[in-house]
Amino acid sequence: MKSEIQMALDAREERWNQKQALIGKHRMPVISVTLRMPRSVRMTEEACAFFESIQADFISHMNANRCFPLRVLSGKNADGPYCMYICDDASKAKRLSIAFEDTRFGSLIDADVTDAAFYELSRTDFGKESRTCIVCGKEDARVCIRLQSHLAEDTNSACLELIHQYIKGRK
Ligand SMILES: [Zn+2]
Repeated sequence: MKSEIQMALDAREERWNQKQALIGKHRMPVISVTLRMPRSVRMTEEACAFFESIQADFISHMNANRCFPLRVLSGKNADGPYCMYICDDASKAKRLSIAFEDTRFGSLIDADVTDAAFYELSRTDFGKESRTCIVCGKEDARVCIRLQSHLAEDTNSACLELIHQYIKGRK
């Protein structure tokens, strides 16, 4: 039997293939949105409800800045929920996605943009720092992950706390 981790890795690979297929089919940039939190949290019902709800916020933010992504795929697999959009301007979409990721609740999602030539744009392409850590707020989350600065339960509760604040604000 496959381990949960292996199933999540397979799911991630499948999602990557789906994205490549969408770019090939539409010949347009694709924005791939996923949850940015530990997998155990990503799979919870609360996180999935949050994910669906924040898509609307993401799209409002894009539309307000004259970018109009079209949702072409969404679902949930062993790696968590995901949504994919096609759009017409990869640079603009990435710049706006970074701005959204840097908001309080946007910190809980990853919005990756791959252009029509299959190049995945990065924050550094736009002179942006890497993302801050959800737990301690320090500058580079990757450092915390590499150094294992936080206990899994602290990371989980920091993410869940943000989700709860989001849900509270919506009511
Ligand atoms: Zn940290």
